[in-house]
Amino acid sequence: MSRPAVARIRLDAFRHNYRLAKKLHGGSALAVIKANAYGHGAVQCARAIADEADGFAVAAIEEALILRAAGITAPILLLEGFFESAELPEIEANNLWIVVHHLWQVEALMAARLYSPLTVWLKMDSGMHRVGLAPEVYRQAYERLKQHPNVAHIVLMSHFARADEPGSNYTVRQIQAFQTAIAGISAPVSLTNSAGVLGWPGAYADWARPGIMLYGANPFAGQAGSFGMSVDERLRPVMQLESALISVRTLPAGEALGYGGIFVAEQPTRVGVVACGYADGYPRVAPMGTAVAVDGKLTRVIGRVSMDMLTVDLTDLPAANPGSRVELWGDQVPVSEIAERAGTIAYELLCNVKRVRFEYTDISTEE
Ligand SMILES: *Cc1c(COP(=O)(O)O)cnc(C)c1O
Repeated sequence: MSRPAVARIRLDAFRHNYRLAKKLHGGSALAVIKANAYGHGAVQCARAIADEADGFAVAAIEEALILRAAGITAPILLLEGFFESAELPEIEANNLWIVVHHLWQVEALMAARLYSPLTVWLKMDSGMHRVGLAPEVYRQAYERLKQHPNVAHIVLMSHFARADEPGSNYTVRQIQAFQTAIAGISAPVSLTNSAGVLGWPGAYADWARPGIMLYGANPFAGQAGSFGMSVDERLRPVMQLESALISVRTLPAGEALGYGGIFVAEQPTRVGVVACGYADGYPRVAPMGTAVAVDGKLTRVIGRVSMDMLTVDLTDLPAANPGSRVELWGDQVPVSEIAERAGTIAYELLCNVKRVRFEYTDISTEE
């Protein structure tokens, strides 16, 4: 028997979520699978939609080459473009698309000696203020690139800072700033991340760039209210983080549990020990009371999460025993809920899963 901690990855759910993103947005969609597909396994996720994906997006060339080596032939966009000109020959040889987000990249691309032109996603800073060309210089950069022999197609893109805030005027202002700056330019456009796809139809254009929603997590974290509810029903969680109870004991009244003794039994308390801890990616900061499912029934974390184990309250689960299945997050316990308890977002938790076994399933679905 091996350690029971496992991340079960449902590739059919990933495919369902990709199709949902495309259906909502219309047009084409790059599946964002940077950071090893937000911790899910980039090659497996890419293969699951290889027949139908319009393209993929990763952070940098290292991630793209892994996909090319695995036989993925669809377009792959490098979201941060190139970090130095020396990458350009390999970008060309592997037929990769690049984001150009800074004037130094514009100059470097035009100075490069290439055999064939590259597809460029020219990024505007419409309000994120992280990367992207300022609206004032955007048009000129576009005109220069458009005429240059190193450039094939140009997609006009920008990225939202606050699309996960349903009522925020900021996204409206970003859309307006972008539209104003590109007025009169006739080229494909891409604005939407997952929150854009799910909440901002006014930003729909030629290309969507969904990430987190492909993994079944709702980007409107902590706002399950108006928009979130129906979204949650339609998105399917891709990762089930599971383990099992390895020990069950009754803690006598007055005794403290685990590091720091932060839980003290007021009455004799049945405690289960789960083989999963922060070294597996479960957040140590998850407080007592965080939801966990044991044999399909919801209960709560008690005591402090440690490196290899965490402890749960089995008071109302008399049938739970060593070997009982535990869901840390997945269908029953939304990863966004754990993230909220831990003061972070689902993205970070999913990216941090490690050490556990990964098991992939794919039930082919016709939809
Ligand atoms: C990561 C990323 C996305 C995907 O964002 P989600 O919030 O995960 O949907 C889209 N566009 C860009 C530029 C990104 O860096």
